[in-house]
Amino acid sequence: FHPDTKSISYTTLSRFAPVKLLPPSIRKRILVTGGAGFVGSHLVDRLMLLGHEVTVIDNFFTGSKTTVSHWIGHPNFEMVRHDVVEPFMIECDQIYHLACPASPPHYQFNACQDDQDVLHGHPQHARTGQAHQGPLPHQQHIRYDLRQIPTICSSLITMLEVYGDPEVHPQTEDYWGHVNPIGPRACYDEGKRVAETLTYGFQRQDGVDVRVARIFNTYGPRMNPADGRVVSNFIVQALKGEDMTVYGDGKQTRSFQYIHDLVDGMIALMNSDETRPVNIGNGDEFTIGEFAELVREIVEKVQDEDGVKRTRSVKIIYEPIPTDDPQRRRPDTSRAKESLKWQPRWTVRMGLEEMVRYYKAKMEEGSL
Ligand code: NAD
Ligand code: UDP
Repeated sequence: FHPDTKSISYTTLSRFAPVKLLPPSIRKRILVTGGAGFVGSHLVDRLMLLGHEVTVIDNFFTGSKTTVSHWIGHPNFEMVRHDVVEPFMIECDQIYHLACPASPPHYQFNACQDDQDVLHGHPQHARTGQAHQGPLPHQQHIRYDLRQIPTICSSLITMLEVYGDPEVHPQTEDYWGHVNPIGPRACYDEGKRVAETLTYGFQRQDGVDVRVARIFNTYGPRMNPADGRVVSNFIVQALKGEDMTVYGDGKQTRSFQYIHDLVDGMIALMNSDETRPVNIGNGDEFTIGEFAELVREIVEKVQDEDGVKRTRSVKIIYEPIPTDDPQRRRPDTSRAKESLKWQPRWTVRMGLEEMVRYYKAKMEEGSL
């Protein structure tokens, strides 16, 4: 997954992939909620390749079984169709809680459900963790019931986007954020904020061992091409020769990180002693207008290399900006560098090129 090593491809992964054989003393049982989604499925791949036992729970609201189907049948892998707002019992060492729709059209489709994912799903993980602090010896796994069974817990990770439309730039973890509590994005942003509040409440009250990742915009293969997010929209539009839709004047900014860097960061955080929130993101900031041009250039480069004939460059058109769209976003990742020794290794150009090739292959096989 290092940019220089192209040895393992997400498209060719199978249950025959070279999974490490870990002795039981260091092999962990890991639960990934939302493991059939974009981020979750890449995390599952990595944890499986590292030799751990992985259980996915997912209700397939925005995810799909196909993202992890290559692991079905592997003795270290289990998948359960389940909604995280309902009770669930499992024994495990670590929980990555990713279950929550992430794209604006999806989370606004059922805003109350979104907050329930966080309010019931997330904090109930924490509630299970009353009796234990620090890593557990093997075989003493978490007894994990979303609502009912408070016993022991080891680690927990949440995915949080708490800064809203920030007034401080770049955003450090000490910044408290700026969110319109009654706007259409509030179901997501406020849900994430209250999840953080509850996480640290459980840490103080019950000694739960927590990890909090504040993830910035992330892109990569397996992003749902229809989920309305900017990277997938632009690539699909450019590949299909359709107009690329920039919302507003295109001067708003985002900083995009490639999925493999995020997975590295999450695993480093989970296995560190850092219990404060940590920004995980790439500091390269683009205006959305510049980003549209970059995507168009990379799509054309890939098409030229593959001998695809184009009659013209696709047009960039401007459409109304959604309400409360954040104006500027760039993470300050000093804490991750110091504390986790982590920093992004994929440039946006390298990541985009890989993602364009992935979507192009999907288009050619007729599934896009
Ligand atoms: P995604 O929509 O691809 O994945 C979410 C997964 O959770 C899906 O498989 C979905 O079916 C599942 N899910 C949703 N509600 C559920 C429920 N109630 N019970 C069980 N499963 C449920 O989104 P993603 O991009 O992979 O995001 C994963 C996490 O990362 C989310 O918490 C999101 O808020 C966070 N995040 C993502 C980004 C990003 O740029 N992708 C940025 C910041 C934070
Ligand atoms: N955006 C855009 N065209 C699109 C989709 C999104 O210009 O086709 C803009 C959107 O208004 C926002 C930015 O791109 O300013 C990032 O949007 P996305 O939904 O990917 O993520 P988020 O707003 O949550 O950062």
